[in-house]
Amino acid sequence: YTQAKALVYSKYGEPKDVLSLHTHSISAPHGSQVNLRLLTAPMNPADVNQIQGVYPSKPPFVSTLGTAEPSAVGGNEGAFEVISTGAGVKNLAKGDWVIMKKTGQGTWRTHAQLEESQLIKIENKEGLSPLQVGTVSVNPVTAYRMIRDFCEWDWMRAGEEWLIQNGANSGVGRAAIQLGREWGIKTLNVVRERKTPEETAALKQELKDLGATVVVTEEEMLTGGFRDLVKEATRGGREPIRLALNCVGGKNATALAKTLAPDSHMVTYGAMSKQPVALPSGLLIFKNLIFDGFWVSRWGDKNPELKENTINDVLQMTRTGRFKDIPVDEVKWNWKSEGTELAENVQGTLGGYRSGKGVFTF
Ligand code: NDP
Repeated sequence: YTQAKALVYSKYGEPKDVLSLHTHSISAPHGSQVNLRLLTAPMNPADVNQIQGVYPSKPPFVSTLGTAEPSAVGGNEGAFEVISTGAGVKNLAKGDWVIMKKTGQGTWRTHAQLEESQLIKIENKEGLSPLQVGTVSVNPVTAYRMIRDFCEWDWMRAGEEWLIQNGANSGVGRAAIQLGREWGIKTLNVVRERKTPEETAALKQELKDLGATVVVTEEEMLTGGFRDLVKEATRGGREPIRLALNCVGGKNATALAKTLAPDSHMVTYGAMSKQPVALPSGLLIFKNLIFDGFWVSRWGDKNPELKENTINDVLQMTRTGRFKDIPVDEVKWNWKSEGTELAENVQGTLGGYRSGKGVFTF
């Protein structure tokens, strides 16, 4: 038996109110089962929405772990190490690193027992850290697919076309900046102003160091002068902005859409401001802009092989130093960790103006 702890919830609500730490034991794996130990699991915004009960995919509450009431384990993404395998396991061995094939498996736990079919093996963990593997399947994949699948990729002129995005300092945003740099797409990045001008300048510089072409604040975008800035950056439109990535909504999203060249796409993948996306009719009628949404969970379930290829591509860039780590706020999880303290960390995820993404390590 392996002693295990999991951060579980048995009703929806705020993470600090409904999450609790549950201790249980995991038996030796049999058949195609695999026993795992946590390496790193991030706290993504969607994980919180899921616990609040406002996210469309809801893991079922089950009694498998022996909780007093049926429950679900929080978290959707993470890197785990194989500690033992059942006799029927074909492609995994002790010491291998794995990630979850699908979301909804529950990753905020010290140990887990899952079916081999639910896991993706990291074929070559050489040169990779648990953090890189544990955060590759949601944010980078989202950025990668939105760029690849929503513009006329084959027609794009390397180094002469742009994408624009808000939430540019998010995990997805940082991935989009680096993929853009890698693929010859210039990026116009929008972030929210920080508390002081120095902090704002430092954030802009941080994104430029990742490969951002231009970084502006939301405030700069919404006040006069932005049109001129865009005109100048894009050489009067000769370098068209072909794609907008929107994770904020509201006025911010409208401003992004207004910069797009005719026939371009705006892909909405998040709604951090909780404000609806409002579109001037002219953008639809005269510019023929196309407005799409993207949800990586659904995309990944439909395209499992392409998802693995996408992950491997990003991991290859990571190994060669072309894809940098996101800033994180590491929460070391050990046997003494209290449920309340872990739940507080989850609660902070949607706070805004954070210095890094929260990640559990064990
Ligand atoms: P991170 O936790 O890395 O970053 C959060 C981002 O949201 C930061 O840029 C933050 O900016 C911004 N933000 C927070 N609150 C607000 C607000 N009130 N108004 C405007 N911006 C705000 O996020 P992820 O990269 O993991 O996710 C970013 C978004 O993408 C989320 O909405 C998430 O749900 C969504 N997402 C969607 C996916 C999909 O498949 N559709 C997949 C992955 C993510 P600041 O620093 O200024 O607070």
